[in-house]
Amino acid sequence: MSEAKKGNGRASKLAGVKGMNDILPQDEALWEFFEETVRAMLRAYGYQQIRTPILEQTQLFSRGIGEVTDIVEKEMYSFTDSLNGEQLTMRPENTASVVRAALEHNLLYTGPKRLWYFGPMFRHERPQRGRYRQFHQVGVEALGLAGPDADVEIILMCQRLWDDLGLTGIRLELNSLGQAEERAAHRKDLIAYLEGHAELLDEDSRRRLYTNPLRVLDTKNPAMQAMVEGAPKLINYLGEASLKHFEGVQTLLKANNIPFTINPRLVRGLDYYNLTVFEWVTDKLGAQGTVAGGGRYDPLIEQLGGDFTPACGWAMGVERILELLREDDLVPQAEGCDVYVVHQGETAVAPAIVAAERMRDAGLNVVFHCSPDGKSGSFKSQMKRADASGAAFAVIIGENEVATGQAAVKHLRAANQDNNQTSVAFELLAEHLIDAIVATADDSINEA
Ligand code: ATP
Ligand code: MG
Repeated sequence: MSEAKKGNGRASKLAGVKGMNDILPQDEALWEFFEETVRAMLRAYGYQQIRTPILEQTQLFSRGIGEVTDIVEKEMYSFTDSLNGEQLTMRPENTASVVRAALEHNLLYTGPKRLWYFGPMFRHERPQRGRYRQFHQVGVEALGLAGPDADVEIILMCQRLWDDLGLTGIRLELNSLGQAEERAAHRKDLIAYLEGHAELLDEDSRRRLYTNPLRVLDTKNPAMQAMVEGAPKLINYLGEASLKHFEGVQTLLKANNIPFTINPRLVRGLDYYNLTVFEWVTDKLGAQGTVAGGGRYDPLIEQLGGDFTPACGWAMGVERILELLREDDLVPQAEGCDVYVVHQGETAVAPAIVAAERMRDAGLNVVFHCSPDGKSGSFKSQMKRADASGAAFAVIIGENEVATGQAAVKHLRAANQDNNQTSVAFELLAEHLIDAIVATADDSINEA
């Protein structure tokens, strides 16, 4: 038995935390495709990235999201810092943090800001397909912009992303939540209506009847659907200015040929929204069909201690989008490296590892064969690894090659495997390989 395999006895394995996923190498190409496509889209709209910490003071979320919401009532990972007694929470979403950071660093001093973020969020939910305890969101926040044009711009960004990713069948649902006074008038009538149907309310709804009745409309309970359909509609309580904003949004969407449906029951889970709210929904993901949601949140910045500043934004569930890409067979091929370096014999190790560095200097992606047992291994087993690496070429350096100063270069993906090996001087390896890679790329373009 080799040294590397010796140990002091095997300990028991530990599992990851429930609902928190490992993202494995086999998914790298998919995540990178998504991330690069998102970045390109965000650049096209002049957005700047912001990264805020995972941990914030609990108060930021209870104040920013609202006490009577699913998130704050039951989904937050909160704890007391045992070192100083601070109440902390792992961010369940990022809008409150972005606003906190914008205020803390006076980002709005120089005028409106268009910001985006990407990262993990944490919610203590029941894990199921498309619903995890650690999941990722990409999101945008347009801070300091008041008009329907800003609302429509952030919606257009989503549509452009679907197009760039190749996704189809994601529908836009739209609603207006008006302003606080308008919601208050509606709320009175809504509570009266719900009281009249008290026997149909489930536990969550009964609890929310007086604290957040609008959320009752958002119920996913099938037994309540018909009752909720007949409830007073907020849209009928909107005043002139709110209606004008809502019509402005619709006009600009139509001007851009973006189809939408108005969903009067769309109220969004968070408390800070006003006027425009929207969701992007698909039928392909079962119950977890909302891939992105957002809207206007003019009151939030004041609520978090800033001057009144109109704003809007959205957040997108990355895992759900990736699932859609899988559903639609849009997973990109993982790219192999360019070159795999195979070496044989003690004297070949140093020249081979140096040759690998020189090729990387020239911009090539190179995997150098390292053995699992500290010995170089048979030529055959190394070539097997070279093939499995996905590399286009193997560079082979044995004692002969060291003696002649010429490495063997083997094209691993050549159509004709009889005549696919040449000798190349060590110092010309990079140049030769770059030419060969360009030539094979040209060939495949000609074939296509
Ligand atoms: P849902 O109604 O599905 O619980 P939500 O209203 O709580 O969603 P938001 O807070 O608006 O969701 O978050 C925006 C997006 O983030 C959602 O549309 C969804 O795509 C994604 N998302 C939310 N919670 C989760 C989760 N637990 N796991 C995976 N993705 C999630
Ligand atoms: Mg939720």
